[in-house]
Amino acid sequence: MKKFLIALIVMLAIMVSAVYANAETDKAEEPKGEKIAYFTFDDGPSAGVTEAIMDELDRLNIKATFFVVGKEMQDKEDLIKRMFDDGHGVGLHTYTHNYDKVYSSTSVFLEEMKQVNDYINEIMGRDMGIKYIRFPGGSSGRLNQDMYDQIKAAGYNIFDWNVNIEDGVKPNASVEELVEAGKECSNKMTEKIILAHCNLNNWNTVKAIEGLYNYYTELGYRFEAITNDTPEFYYRFNK
Ligand SMILES: [Zn+2]
Repeated sequence: MKKFLIALIVMLAIMVSAVYANAETDKAEEPKGEKIAYFTFDDGPSAGVTEAIMDELDRLNIKATFFVVGKEMQDKEDLIKRMFDDGHGVGLHTYTHNYDKVYSSTSVFLEEMKQVNDYINEIMGRDMGIKYIRFPGGSSGRLNQDMYDQIKAAGYNIFDWNVNIEDGVKPNASVEELVEAGKECSNKMTEKIILAHCNLNNWNTVKAIEGLYNYYTELGYRFEAITNDTPEFYYRFNK
């Protein structure tokens, strides 16, 4: 009986220390970064939706980032001006958004970024010095070490995302579905980089902004625009 008791105590001690060790590990893995959420809206500007998104951001008094496409900017120069006037980030998302062309070579990719950058500077009448870009479709499966080195030599920071409201593939999803999708994060970073779109058909995205704003604000996040100083975020790639 005594032996049994000792064995039991030893067993309990091992179990308790195991649980304790686990708790320590969990604690060590807890992300330490600041709670910042970045709304990003790709593929605009578009007539109607882009303006409605800016009105909604205005109403909520938050800043976001627009990764704009050069060919979409024609006749919508006033929307580009408003993005800057409102204090939003304006990032480069190629001139044509044509995957076959954009990804035909790294030099074409960089030329496409330069084209949209030049167009923005022309609209604004001065060099806006934009240094952040987003790959059409994301960098996954496209970025490699050589391309990365060339992008850095050109002075750009890359921004993929870790939250996807899925309005690109499902523009007709309900507002509730978009908000639910926007609560999922693909990694443990405390910075949430939220992918959304401002195409002509993204009207539900406009309505999903408030739900996501409420969700992340209640979790202690603050919303910011991406700037040239924001640490870049890109998916790990095979060398
Ligand atoms: Zn895109």
